[in-house]
Amino acid sequence: MDPMLFSRLTTRREMLRATSAVAGGALLARFFPGTLLAGAARPMAYPQQAGAAPADPLAAMRAQMGATPLETLKLSDTLTMLSGPGGNVVVLNGPDGKVVVDSFVQNVWAKLKQTLDGVGNAPIRLLIDTHWHFDHTDNNANFRAAGAQILAHENTKKRLSEPHDLLGMHFPPSPASALPTQTFTATHRMQANGENVVLGYIPPAHTDTDIYIQYQRANVIHLGDTYFNGMYPFIDAGTGGSINGMIAAANRSLGLVDANTKIVPGHGPLSDRAALTRYRDVLVTVRDRVQREKTAGKSVQEVVAAKPTAEFDATWGMGFMQPDVFVTIVYNTL
Ligand SMILES: [Zn+2]
Repeated sequence: MDPMLFSRLTTRREMLRATSAVAGGALLARFFPGTLLAGAARPMAYPQQAGAAPADPLAAMRAQMGATPLETLKLSDTLTMLSGPGGNVVVLNGPDGKVVVDSFVQNVWAKLKQTLDGVGNAPIRLLIDTHWHFDHTDNNANFRAAGAQILAHENTKKRLSEPHDLLGMHFPPSPASALPTQTFTATHRMQANGENVVLGYIPPAHTDTDIYIQYQRANVIHLGDTYFNGMYPFIDAGTGGSINGMIAAANRSLGLVDANTKIVPGHGPLSDRAALTRYRDVLVTVRDRVQREKTAGKSVQEVVAAKPTAEFDATWGMGFMQPDVFVTIVYNTL
């Protein structure tokens, strides 16, 4: 469920850096109780804290994610991608005011605001939430206080209004000041700063709140957490996610892009159609192998032990999702 956990470890460099704040293995062990994870926690990533459990996992995760450097990448004359403390933010800047997608974690608000101010002096007009997870919505209230409206799918407002427990982290219902001010169900179109922006609902994939944001003139698309570039994705089964939904989302996204489209994933570096195709193919291969064994009556423990992802693990298993955990989620959502 949690996007933040992932984003913390989206690259090997980040993973090696992430040895200070949180015992991720302990969090996962709580979320996936039992012996299954006995060998799945990544001891090499947490050499100083095997077995340690933070007192407040959410605060620890915010601190850890917030320590990730914020990097800026220009995508077009009006679009800028910000990466680091909780996935990828995209800013559409111009005289109509800034339109921002996703918001990082709370504790980097000052740094994010400073970076947004550096992009241009237009006010922040609108924040768009790609889905409900906290590493994408954590600064909703700060954006509201800065004068922005918030647009999201109606399910994002619903999920943010509920309490959730995810990977050991507890999320109380969000206050009204942090909820979307406008929602949509299927699609939403808007024009701003010379761009045609199309928002579309993605049937349940990573969660049941996912949307894409397409910038038609610049040929850029943000896919939220339906796309983890170069690593196994997290799938939040607790709020509607499933492996088949993730595959359907990837196929749908491939139908929205061409060879020149700049694709912004929820986590990981800027991408393109070729990389999105490889991601889809990995998901399909793993799904098919796990489905075959599950249909044959194998238990989740047996399927995990058979290591159906082995050929991909050296690269795809280096993000937050450890191979055994990913296989477990795939199995459980089939
Ligand atoms: Zn997420």
